[in-house]
Amino acid sequence: MQAQQLVKPKPIAEKPLSLVETADPQPDPGQIRLKVAVCGVCHTDLHTVEGDSDLPRLPIIPGHQIVGVVEEVGEGSGRFQIGDRVGVAWLNWTCGQCQYCRNGRENLCPEARFTGLHADGGYAQYTIVDENFAYPLPENFSDVQAAPLLCAGIIGYRSLRLSGIEPGGKLGLYGFGASAHLAIQVARHWDCEVSVFTRSQAHRQHARELGAVWVGGAEDQPPALLDASVTFAPAGWIIPLALGHLRPGGTLAINAIHMTPIPEMAYDMIYGERVLRSVTNFTRQDALEFLQLAGDIPITTTVETAPLAQANEVLRRLKASEIRGAAVLVV
Ligand SMILES: [Zn+2]
Ligand SMILES: [Zn+2]
Repeated sequence: MQAQQLVKPKPIAEKPLSLVETADPQPDPGQIRLKVAVCGVCHTDLHTVEGDSDLPRLPIIPGHQIVGVVEEVGEGSGRFQIGDRVGVAWLNWTCGQCQYCRNGRENLCPEARFTGLHADGGYAQYTIVDENFAYPLPENFSDVQAAPLLCAGIIGYRSLRLSGIEPGGKLGLYGFGASAHLAIQVARHWDCEVSVFTRSQAHRQHARELGAVWVGGAEDQPPALLDASVTFAPAGWIIPLALGHLRPGGTLAINAIHMTPIPEMAYDMIYGERVLRSVTNFTRQDALEFLQLAGDIPITTTVETAPLAQANEVLRRLKASEIRGAAVLVV
């Protein structure tokens, strides 16, 4: 099969991925093999190919927003039939035994493996996955439209949940890329008043089109204090500013795997029982809930497509904030 493979991480300008011909993967018992239709491109893929994350396995095929069709089932796999369309996301496997797995927090499992990091992902013609870590997709979504739901969407949904935002509440979103453009639609479905903070004029325009009541920069003051916020930007300098926009008792949830250091700040920024919390991965329950909700609303995904061969170029454009909505590779 053809695959975009990472042998050695390097800056995206130096094209870390190479299109190679490699053996088709074979499903073990309990696994399924998918013929990949499309794979979404995520900021985490950029961290992987540039080596910001520790890479447990090289070479590796990135990609963890995979839409494909079940083509072969391993021995003892019975959850899906050949021909079913399924999605695969970031959470690739969890131990099922530890205190986190047993208490509904498998996102924190210390043994967890991730798609496109520990296991080959979807920048390829085929991929294999444990059948318990694949999801049926809402039927009213095309393959391309469904791909961004699988990371950007699910993690955005978990972030909203952890922010404690309630229906009708005032919500702030910092950064407006793949994840935020889906989260705002869930928040609007819950009748929230959403303020969006982003530097990019194109992203501000996009936020307005999706129902933001106010747009501005992180340095600007929104019309009223916010009940809850989510930051999607990997920029630590935003944290004290975002806390300054939050009412007492409000929560700021950080949706980022990496972030530049958070500047020193006065205790007053969190006094008043303001909560600052990170969002780490997601659970299969989050995925199932969000995919159901996305189909019911229904969410509209803004997508730019490119062929698999252009993975390096798409990642470069993602880094430069040149993508409107989400980028999807067509295999
Ligand atoms: Zn992702
Ligand atoms: Zn576990």
